[in-house]
Amino acid sequence: MRVVSLGSGSSGNALLIEAGPRGRTKLLVDAGFSVRIIAERLHKIGVHLTQLQGVLVTHEHSDHVLALPGLMKRYNIPVVTNPRTYAVIEEGLATGMWRSDSGKLISSQQETTPLLDVANEATADISVQNGGEVALEEPVAPDVRNSPTLFLPLEVGASRIIGDITVTSFPISHDAVAPCGYLLSAGGCRVCVVTDSGEVTPAMLDMMRLADLLVLESNHDRERLLRGPYPYYLKARILSSTGHLSNDQAAEAVLRTWRGDSVRWLWLSHLSRTNNTPTLARSQMRLRLKEAGANLAQLHISVSPPAMGHTWDSTQLWHTSSLWEMPG
Ligand SMILES: [Zn+2]
Ligand SMILES: [Zn+2]
Repeated sequence: MRVVSLGSGSSGNALLIEAGPRGRTKLLVDAGFSVRIIAERLHKIGVHLTQLQGVLVTHEHSDHVLALPGLMKRYNIPVVTNPRTYAVIEEGLATGMWRSDSGKLISSQQETTPLLDVANEATADISVQNGGEVALEEPVAPDVRNSPTLFLPLEVGASRIIGDITVTSFPISHDAVAPCGYLLSAGGCRVCVVTDSGEVTPAMLDMMRLADLLVLESNHDRERLLRGPYPYYLKARILSSTGHLSNDQAAEAVLRTWRGDSVRWLWLSHLSRTNNTPTLARSQMRLRLKEAGANLAQLHISVSPPAMGHTWDSTQLWHTSSLWEMPG
């Protein structure tokens, strides 16, 4: 399995998951940038949009769905989500308008998302490295063109096999119609994606416990948010049980799903630019784990940036020497 973060935060979210021989099954989890930005970031890692078998959608906020009209209409890429979320997506496809995470209406024509949190994000990472233009109008792959529908339903709590990947959806707590996280399994490896949740529930912990790579929201530092510039209603919404996970809540969740018998990877994601910093999120996580007596050698912690981020390859699981060096 290969997992690549194409960007994370309120300016947009997208994650590429690949599995199977030569990475033949390719899925996105969320597509919250313009089609052009997604195409350019995929190009950097040798992937073309026509190779995608689907986009798993966690919920209908613009920072997770902005590219869907283009991906569906121009590239015939199916959307995988629950029927309630898809009903709202259909409205967005018809009107061209999407609800942002902070409640504003956003047009899908916009190349970037003007959210409260993204003042300087605009063109930070849209240039293509390695030279070359990315062609957005290439022909659609035949296997995708022939798909009978562009909506593959996956009820929250259910599982579905897509190519080489088994996808399990589970409920999270966010102010969207039917928000969910995903557990993706292939070749004995598991990746769990949990962002945009105001609280951590037992159902979420059950899934997070299974993950080799956990992509977990660590949105804000509570004190920083309370003292920061956001209006009261927005602070209240972020702190509510259907808002976003704080650094403390993320640490608590990791401690409650601690596995002493293996090495795991943790990507702290969906960080607020105003109410958090990568250093703060990472150091608070490390501090909490240290205080609880956890062996930090068992956890590789990194922060997913708003622009193109990390790559995780499941072969790291078999190559990591610390598995054998760990004290009993
Ligand atoms: Zn979001
Ligand atoms: Zn959201």
